[in-house]
Amino acid sequence: MQKRLQPKTFTVQQTFNLSPAMRRIVLTGEAVRQLPADSAGQYVKLLFTPDGSTDLSGLADDQRPVLRTYTISEFDAGNGTLAIDFVKHHHAGEVNPETGGYASHWAMHASVGDTISLGGPNTIQGLSDGCDWVLLIGDMTALPSIQLKLARFAADARGYVVLDLHSNADLPDLKLPAGITLIVRTSESTASLSERVSALTWLSGTPAIWCACEFSQMRAIRQHLNQQPDFDRKTCYISSYWKEGVTEDGHKVLKRDDQESYAG
Ligand SMILES: Cc1cc2nc3c(=O)[nH]c(=O)nc-3n(C[C@H](O)[C@H](O)[C@H](O)COP(=O)(O)OP(=O)(O)OC[C@H]3O[C@@H](n4cnc5c(N)ncnc54)[C@H](O)[C@@H]3O)c2cc1C
Repeated sequence: MQKRLQPKTFTVQQTFNLSPAMRRIVLTGEAVRQLPADSAGQYVKLLFTPDGSTDLSGLADDQRPVLRTYTISEFDAGNGTLAIDFVKHHHAGEVNPETGGYASHWAMHASVGDTISLGGPNTIQGLSDGCDWVLLIGDMTALPSIQLKLARFAADARGYVVLDLHSNADLPDLKLPAGITLIVRTSESTASLSERVSALTWLSGTPAIWCACEFSQMRAIRQHLNQQPDFDRKTCYISSYWKEGVTEDGHKVLKRDDQESYAG
């Protein structure tokens, strides 16, 4: 996978709530024209100073920016815009390197005309082609990516989409083929995301699996999936997008260790 950082600066054109727990920021600027046409669904790194500013001129020469990873949910080269959808999870006042919250805090306070630097975009492994059925699993951080995948589903696709949302009001209007069953858990549900996945009736044939969610949930889901018939690592993407109680910087280290031990 090719990794590009080469930060470019973008300006906030619009901010609005897509749902109670999801805020969309639409960015614009000359730099949009330098991005590839297929940028929707790719991920970018948002850059902050350690005190939460997006003005990187405040960084000392020996200071590295704080990086946060997000998916481009919409890309419109014609209008010169890209959109990022932020889960609203940070409710404390300030951000700092210990408690983090840089990206969510910025998204909740950004105004038209504000600027931010983004590195990337880089590609994420997609849903494998040519499998017998599909299984998409994700929480709200994966919703932008899952929606883009659902839009490309074949009319005769069969399988499951299992979502973990803050509330039913966060469920977007999804157009699903008749053969796809949607399962939604919310923060009011008693069963966790991994328990919902474990309760699925496993279909016959090889599944194409795409899963992105909280670290501990991802591990429980992966353990369950590994035990299922016709499970094939080559047709799966199973990743954690964040970890409860840990900032992205800490999660990155745990994620790397976990992937190394899983790869064996
Ligand atoms: C490839 C990839 C694509 C991603 N795309 C998106 C996207 O499009 N939209 C999106 O919202 N997120 C996305 N994420 C997840 C996002 O990078 C993390 O949620 C990130 O930690 C948020 O940074 P922060 O500065 O707001 O919080 P951090 O400083 O990283 O964390 C501060 C605290 O908030 C908690 N926290 C972090 N994220 C959440 C959350 N979602 N819910 C509840 N608590 C949380 C942490 O456990 C920690 O205690 C993506 C992650 C990856 C790896």
